[in-house]
Amino acid sequence: KFITFEGIDGAGKSTHLAYVADLLRSAGRQVVLTREPGGTPLGEKLRELILHEPMHIETEALLVFAARREHLAQLIGPALARGDWVISDRFTDATFAYQGGGRGLPFERLEMLENWVHPHLQPDLTLLFDVPLEVARARLDAAREPDRFERERADFFAATRAAYLRRAHDFPERFRLIDSSRPIGAIQNELRAVIDDLAGQA
Ligand code: C5P
Repeated sequence: KFITFEGIDGAGKSTHLAYVADLLRSAGRQVVLTREPGGTPLGEKLRELILHEPMHIETEALLVFAARREHLAQLIGPALARGDWVISDRFTDATFAYQGGGRGLPFERLEMLENWVHPHLQPDLTLLFDVPLEVARARLDAAREPDRFERERADFFAATRAAYLRRAHDFPERFRLIDSSRPIGAIQNELRAVIDDLAGQA
């Protein structure tokens, strides 16, 4: 099974990644934890460029999909073929949210690339961690050096969040919207139920 974690910066998804991986591992599943952009040696090099090097928005989208192509070939594809569970911290929905919603690249362009890079693969489950913008901003670690996206204005994050919510609306069969402004315990209870459900279908 393929699970993706999504949400704007500060939505709290990283906190819950480890929890879900632990749940699955203690149920005896082989779990591969990975992230985007990145996940492979080449992908991590591309991540550095994407996050820190100013570039044309289309270059950015192409590099994100280039990293994803490698990720699918080297890591995600083989792991799913072995029957492992793959958990990715961000995947193509993030491209629709950040490069599409946030940076204004037409969704049709991104759909073309998606159809090229993974025409037949979609996550079995996409957990979208959603919080109001003010909560997300407050949670971002002030001590951490912000990357060039985190320095963006609030309207960038508003557009990014709106694009995520639109994806969830358009693909209700695989999306699960998690209200991430609740206490961690409540979110963990919900995650346990969702994961039990998915594991039952395996
Ligand atoms: O989730 P994580 O914190 O690793 O994401 C790193 C940064 O990459 C985030 O600040 C996010 O804004 C950015 N990003 C992006 N486009 C993507 C995926 C991530 O701009 N497709």
